[in-house]
Amino acid sequence: MASYDFRSPRLYVDAPLSAGAALALEAGQAHYLGHVLRLKPGDRVLVFNGRDGEWSAAIAAGRRALTLRVGEQTRAQTAPADLHYLFAPLKAARLDYMVQKAVEMGVSRLQPVLTRHVQVTRVNLERMRGNAIEAAEQCGILALPEVAAPVALDRCLAERDPARWLVFCDEDAASASPAATLGKLPPRSPLAVLVGPEGGFAQDERAALLRADNVVRLALGPRILRADTAAVAALALVQAVAGDWR
Ligand code: SAH
Repeated sequence: MASYDFRSPRLYVDAPLSAGAALALEAGQAHYLGHVLRLKPGDRVLVFNGRDGEWSAAIAAGRRALTLRVGEQTRAQTAPADLHYLFAPLKAARLDYMVQKAVEMGVSRLQPVLTRHVQVTRVNLERMRGNAIEAAEQCGILALPEVAAPVALDRCLAERDPARWLVFCDEDAASASPAATLGKLPPRSPLAVLVGPEGGFAQDERAALLRADNVVRLALGPRILRADTAAVAALALVQAVAGDWR
C-alpha cells in the first residue's frame, strides 16, 4: 500500500474506463466534487468501476455540469478476496456501519441471513450497496463485494456449498483461543463468517449450525459483543489467521 495515492478523491463510476474516455457524473457526484470539495477544471480525481482497475481523471467543465476526462491507469484491477460475510441484519445505523466495516475488512459477498431473533427482516439492498461503494471509495478497494438478497438461516444451511467452511461466531461458545480455532481450518479453503442478531441465536439454530459439515465454532472472548463489534473482531481474526492479512 506504500505508493497508494490517498490524497486524490476517489469515485466509483459505473461506466467502462479507458484512456481518453469522457465520463458524465451523477448529480450527487458532481455536487460533491464541485461544491463540497470545490475542485476546478484540471484537478485530479481517481475513478474505479470494480472491473477496469483504478484510473486518474481530470475534471472538465461540461455544458451543464462537471464531467471527467480519464487519463492513465494508476492500478490494475485486483481479484476480490474470497470471503463471504453472513449476518443477521441490524437496524439502520448499525447495519450501515457493519456493511462499511465488512467491506473495509475485504469481504467479497455480503449475505443477510434471517434468524429467529432478527430485529429487522426487510433489508434495503440499494442502501447496502451504497455503503459498500462508500467504503470502497474511502479505502482504495478496487473489487466491490456482491450484495445478496436476504435468505432464511435454514435455507442458507440447506443450500450452502460445504466446501466453503463456515466460521460460526457463537456467543455461547466457551472462551478459547480464536487463533488456535481458526488455525485448524484447512489451508486455502474458501471461507464464510456468520454473525448473529442482537438477540443471539436460538438453541435449535445453534444445534443445526453445529450439526452441519465444515463448520467451525468461534468464540470471541469472554464478553458478549454487539453484532457490529463481533463483525469487525471476527473478520480481523479470520483475515489474520486464514485470510489475506497473512
Ligand atoms: N443477545 C445475545 C448476544 C448476541 S450478540 C446474548 O446476550 O447472548 C450478536 C452476535 O454477535 C452473536 O449472535 C454472535 O454471532 C456474535 N458474538 C457476540 N459476542 C460473541 C462472543 N463472545 N463469541 C462469539 N460470537 C459473539
